[in-house]
Amino acid sequence: MSDALVVGPDRHGRIVAIQGGRVVAEAPPGAAALPCPDGEIAPGAVCAHTHLYSGLARWGMPPPEPPPRDFLEILQRVWWRLDRALDAPSLDAAARDYLACALRAGVTTLVDHHESPNLIADSLPILARAAADLGVRTLLCYGASERNFGREEARRGLAACRSLAPSPLVRGLVGLHASFTVSDDTIREAGALARELGTVVHVHVAEDRADVEDARRRGWAGPLERLSALDALPSGSILAHGVHLSVDHVRRAAAAGAWFVHNPRSNEGNRVGYASALSATQRVALGVDGWGPDMAAEDEALRRLAAVNGDRGVEGRLAAGHALAAERFGATSAPLAPGSLGDCVVRRDGAILHVVVGGRIVVDNGALVTGDFERITAEARAQAARLWERMAEF
Ligand SMILES: [Zn+2]
Repeated sequence: MSDALVVGPDRHGRIVAIQGGRVVAEAPPGAAALPCPDGEIAPGAVCAHTHLYSGLARWGMPPPEPPPRDFLEILQRVWWRLDRALDAPSLDAAARDYLACALRAGVTTLVDHHESPNLIADSLPILARAAADLGVRTLLCYGASERNFGREEARRGLAACRSLAPSPLVRGLVGLHASFTVSDDTIREAGALARELGTVVHVHVAEDRADVEDARRRGWAGPLERLSALDALPSGSILAHGVHLSVDHVRRAAAAGAWFVHNPRSNEGNRVGYASALSATQRVALGVDGWGPDMAAEDEALRRLAAVNGDRGVEGRLAAGHALAAERFGATSAPLAPGSLGDCVVRRDGAILHVVVGGRIVVDNGALVTGDFERITAEARAQAARLWERMAEF
């Protein structure tokens, strides 16, 4: 049986042929067809930084009392409690719920940054299985940290990155939580592991001023200088946030091949500031940092916040996500061109009608075909209730 698919013609007469997971110039005879005469073919969206582990938060996560006063308190009292409470069933339910919503919103690739300190070794296989079942493309890593159990915790985090098996839709990255929760040794080991595995490092950088202040207390000029001096940023590495970086920092890191990921809604919600220096390079993709995986909503927030902050350099961030994903999968970066990833969506009147990932139809007429959406939602609600109980113990 051929694995080829022809999407279209759409209302503009456009056709996209996919074979072997990649877009091809011409479909072989006998290819399956997905005609869409009243729709419009477009590239699938890339979410360049998120956290599947927070997927259950939308199901009634109790707010911390009293409210956190700053970014570190948000981490300590919300996300670092949630991540310690995660077990296998709650992580699986969170990932499936989040990924199903992402696909229905036309997101075909997600770059995830995962942490679950009481479930390290088994975590990435759970995420990879959920992604494979639902048919979404992912870049996965465990974000090594020493914040709970010290160096041993970081070693186990890096080991989790090492043991992730790549597949046609999955590539592994080496994750570091952030400069302020790891030692020099862990940073060095992350860089060495990424080079050994032929991949890159995915890390939060200068999200809040606290990350910069921590690096200075350790005797470095800042977190970027520290990561760079300890050889942890091989070309292509993914730096989330960069809110407290200078234009000069951004230019130098981009010249060394780094990607930045802007997460405007998260930055606004956490009140860490607006990442204005990022417009010094075109190597900036868009992420949601655990918010709902709707890239149109994130792009809208970007435009609103860019206008407020007088930032005129934000064009092309969704397109940069395609280039980032293509780089990791060894594909042509121009979406829908021959040699590019076989991922696309069909919209009708702006709404997502069909979603195709690697030549597989995963959403058909607005409905998820790779999973039972109602069941996924019901399981997410049930696991969320359990998780809030566990979280109260941490
Ligand atoms: Zn993040």
